[in-house]
Amino acid sequence: MKNRIAQRMTTISPSLTLAIAAKSKAMKAAGENVISFSVGEPDFNTPEHIIQAAKAALDAGQTKYTPSSGLLPLRKAICDKFEKDNGLCYEPSQIIVSNGAKHSIFNACYAVLEEGDEVIIPAPYWLTYPEVVKVCGATPVYIDCKKENKFKFSAADLKAAITPKTKMLIFNSPSNPTGAVYTEAEVREIAKVCEEADIFVLADEIYEKLCYNGVKPFSIAKCSEKMKELTITVNGVSKTYAMTGWRVGYLAAPKDVAKAIDSFQSHATSNACSISQYATIEALQSSEAEIEEMVNVFDKRRARLLQLIDGIDGVQAVKPDGAFYVMLVVGGLYGKSANGKVIHNSIEFADALLDAEKVATVPGVSFGADDCLRLSYSLSEADIEEGLKRIKRFVESLQ
Ligand code: PLP
Repeated sequence: MKNRIAQRMTTISPSLTLAIAAKSKAMKAAGENVISFSVGEPDFNTPEHIIQAAKAALDAGQTKYTPSSGLLPLRKAICDKFEKDNGLCYEPSQIIVSNGAKHSIFNACYAVLEEGDEVIIPAPYWLTYPEVVKVCGATPVYIDCKKENKFKFSAADLKAAITPKTKMLIFNSPSNPTGAVYTEAEVREIAKVCEEADIFVLADEIYEKLCYNGVKPFSIAKCSEKMKELTITVNGVSKTYAMTGWRVGYLAAPKDVAKAIDSFQSHATSNACSISQYATIEALQSSEAEIEEMVNVFDKRRARLLQLIDGIDGVQAVKPDGAFYVMLVVGGLYGKSANGKVIHNSIEFADALLDAEKVATVPGVSFGADDCLRLSYSLSEADIEEGLKRIKRFVESLQ
């Protein structure tokens, strides 16, 4: 056999940071006191009433296939959510429920992208986007978002990146990894460019409820009817309701796109887990008190983390308005040595920090920002205090 593995699989980049993640796990397993800022999920439990709804679904025998696009009551609840939170009116036929927002993103890309298409991805980006785009045969085109502009791109930046081959913009606000949240005015400017160029927008709004300082995200699909016809909005319950393991994500799309995704999903995976779907109905229809509580805790940690970073010479942070990550800019320290070894990049920095102080971070190179480390603040305040003390000691030890 000549080509055992399909060509498209070779386009996926191996995870550059896998070695560090594995090392940190091994250290933890060996009983070492590792403080991990690399967590990508809320450190809260799924609220009890959601768990009860899942148990009730099990007891009621809701353990069979559902429609591939999701239970109708769930899709109706999602329509209500879009109307209430985003001012967007959809029919249940435009909603597809999948196995997590990551699956929704894959489906959306697979449905509209083909060989030769270009997809604009603002960097720093969530590391899955480029890989999905490449698997679909398209080419990622990056916009370099500057720290000076809070890691946001402008309408002019977008315009400059568009070519006749551009098919889609991936727009993630609030952003993983930067925490950047675009204002309504900024979103409207970006939408104008997309409308003019007639390109799709994949709007990843998974962190929409995790915003601080009264900052409110604005859905790009809301800008105009034309924009709504060009937008596939992705959301899910993983982050908002601390439900990462339940695997439920969803999207709202123009009718033709939703129909294509439904057909594809029906053959690829069928429906998302029936029990998780019942739990999601409960989550979406519940009061927001638990979310507010979680947001308040994250906000306190965010403030403390930023304060502690401020006390370390040679590094900076761009204040995030959403999600639960901070990009720590460490590029100014490259060229210095830790333990006699010169640090040239984010992988070497993260590795040296892990070795010296048992602090795990994610090297920025995985997000297209090699002068940064991503710190998650999904860990206790006590661990944040201790972790930052260690980072400060490490930075001060560099020669
Ligand atoms: N989008 C972004 C920006 C994320 O950070 C994540 C998870 O880390 C996802 C989508 C996927 O979420 P899930 O597949 O758990 O719903």
